[in-house]
Amino acid sequence: MIKLYNTMSRKKEIFKPIKKGRVGLYSCGPTVYSYAHIGHFRSYIFVDTLKRILRYNRFKVKHVMNITDVGHLTSDADTGEDKIEKEARIEKKTVWQIAKFYTKDFFNSMKKLNVKKPDIICKATDHIQDMIDFIKKIEKNGYTYRTSDGIYFDTSKMKDYGKLARLKIEGLEKGKRVSFGEKKNVTDFALWKFSPKDKKRQMEWDSPWGVGFPGWHIECSVMSMKYLGKVFDIHTGGVDHIPVHHTNEIAQAKAVIGKDFVRYWLHNEFVMVNGEKMSKSKRNFFNMNDIEKKGFDPLALRYLFLTAHYRSKINFTWKSLEAAQNTLNKLRQHMLLLQEPDNKKSNKNKIKKYKKQFQDFINDDLNTPEAISLIWKMIRDEKEINNKDKYKLILEFDKVFGLNLDKIKPTKIKIPTGIKKLIKEREKARKNKNWKKADEIRNKLKKKGYILEDTPNGPVIKKSSKV
Ligand code: AMP
Ligand code: ZN
Repeated sequence: MIKLYNTMSRKKEIFKPIKKGRVGLYSCGPTVYSYAHIGHFRSYIFVDTLKRILRYNRFKVKHVMNITDVGHLTSDADTGEDKIEKEARIEKKTVWQIAKFYTKDFFNSMKKLNVKKPDIICKATDHIQDMIDFIKKIEKNGYTYRTSDGIYFDTSKMKDYGKLARLKIEGLEKGKRVSFGEKKNVTDFALWKFSPKDKKRQMEWDSPWGVGFPGWHIECSVMSMKYLGKVFDIHTGGVDHIPVHHTNEIAQAKAVIGKDFVRYWLHNEFVMVNGEKMSKSKRNFFNMNDIEKKGFDPLALRYLFLTAHYRSKINFTWKSLEAAQNTLNKLRQHMLLLQEPDNKKSNKNKIKKYKKQFQDFINDDLNTPEAISLIWKMIRDEKEINNKDKYKLILEFDKVFGLNLDKIKPTKIKIPTGIKKLIKEREKARKNKNWKKADEIRNKLKKKGYILEDTPNGPVIKKSSKV
């Protein structure tokens, strides 16, 4: 049984998929006009963890994510320049070059963070006709009107508009001091924008309403429903998407199918810097290049995110990343040590207990902080569980954490001749039952940084490491 916090009900709910054993999952993808930053990484590590947890529970997950390569304007109020067109102007490149470059960079970063690729990655610009067809249906059902700059959604016609965000529409209307132009209601939003008369856009398409481009919100309603069906299981995004983007996605879909199109809305909280959301516009962001330049392993960032619940804010500091890196290094060293057998018996009951605890944590709305501490509790458990079982369990848990712990293998070390000679000497002493001499040589080796262990197959030598 998995419980997920549904933003729509503001409650943890038992997850019941529409089709038994299958999950349709849609995530709002990046707007590809700049390098992704640590805030974005959190959002996609959260989705990746959710996916891994669903798969750990044997669900077949179909994950769809969009790439916003058109229509996201610099202001959420449908004004300002298209972010990609603006960047193309600044960088003196085509919009297509901009989108291609930053999409590639995004997936490079995702790979470094061990975030699995979605099953379907869909670009907005590849679905213009689908969007036009969808807007036609919204229009046919009577939810649209025309202004001089586009086709707008009339939110006053949607009875429960804003219910996801618990928007108080009246308050919004009254509180709005600046005029909202030709829009009938402050919350109305563009479905189709006309190309400006005074400027040539690089991306524009013909439509029944005039040459232009789609609004930002329409792409997610259209592509999610195209690939996952009219109603699907889970939709994710950052909390900033609740009041506008997701609220509008719901309105558009409902205008066509007459009901809610998503069963569970999941939102991750922000990465903050000094009390403010990390964002491009605030210029308080760091990206993959910054992380690597400072010598950090991207997986240390993944570890850091796992230690906080996805619904709580994280204040990012380099110190916190350093602490996460140190802990991850320690965990990796333990994984090496755990590959050495000890003489303890396997305790089936204890293994079962640890597994159950782990499942309870991850299935309780992705409680990764508790699940991570369970690993440490198990490592410290010297009595009831042996090395082999600990190692196996941690690898199983890492299917959810995605820290690549299975890649931690002992490396073959080159042993200097002097050390080899000492080992031979010790073997001779042991054959002659000269235990005192054998111990002396072992201590000598230890001082030189080598640990010698006697196993049934003969002595094993290792470089000593501090844990
Ligand atoms: P965008 O490209 O701005 O649409 O953002 C892509 C995803 O990252 C969205 O789901 C955002 O909500 C999320 N996001 C953006 N900034 C942050 C942040 N500082 N912390 C967490 N998530 C963020
Ligand atoms: Zn979206």
